[in-house]
Amino acid sequence: MLSRRAELKRGRRPRTVGLLPPRYRFHLNPHSDVRYTGSCPECDERLGQRKLPLAVEVDQWGLITLPVVCRYCSACELLIAHQDELEDQLTALFERLDPLVIGNGYRVLGSVGRDGLRHEQDEPWSSRELSAALHDFQEYVQLEPPAVRALADVARPR
Ligand SMILES: [Zn+2]
Repeated sequence: MLSRRAELKRGRRPRTVGLLPPRYRFHLNPHSDVRYTGSCPECDERLGQRKLPLAVEVDQWGLITLPVVCRYCSACELLIAHQDELEDQLTALFERLDPLVIGNGYRVLGSVGRDGLRHEQDEPWSSRELSAALHDFQEYVQLEPPAVRALADVARPR
């Protein structure tokens, strides 16, 4: 694994952006028919709900934070956001701020403390400002949607 300095030298994004300790293992659920309302897909504990500001980097615009309602498993530190809901929020925000940006690529970088919501939302964050307030995610988690997993179990020979 490359050191942070070596990654910077190569012009790659360093592994962490935020200066605060990494928090949460993050899954952005792309399936609008899978809602993760009941139990955790990893440990089967009951999922809770947590609304927190997520930092998003939007191409041709910059860094913003959005208050997003996520599913959360405290045992796994797993945080799940629904992609369609997140994109609806982004669209609503940019209809007001800059409609030309709607549909651009974006990345969810991490979460910011509650103070993050006080930032003036009509202006992009500078990377220094965001860095000071940002908890990177510990990792990005890929989850198989339950329906696909069930089919795979059926297809697997015993
Ligand atoms: Zn769990």
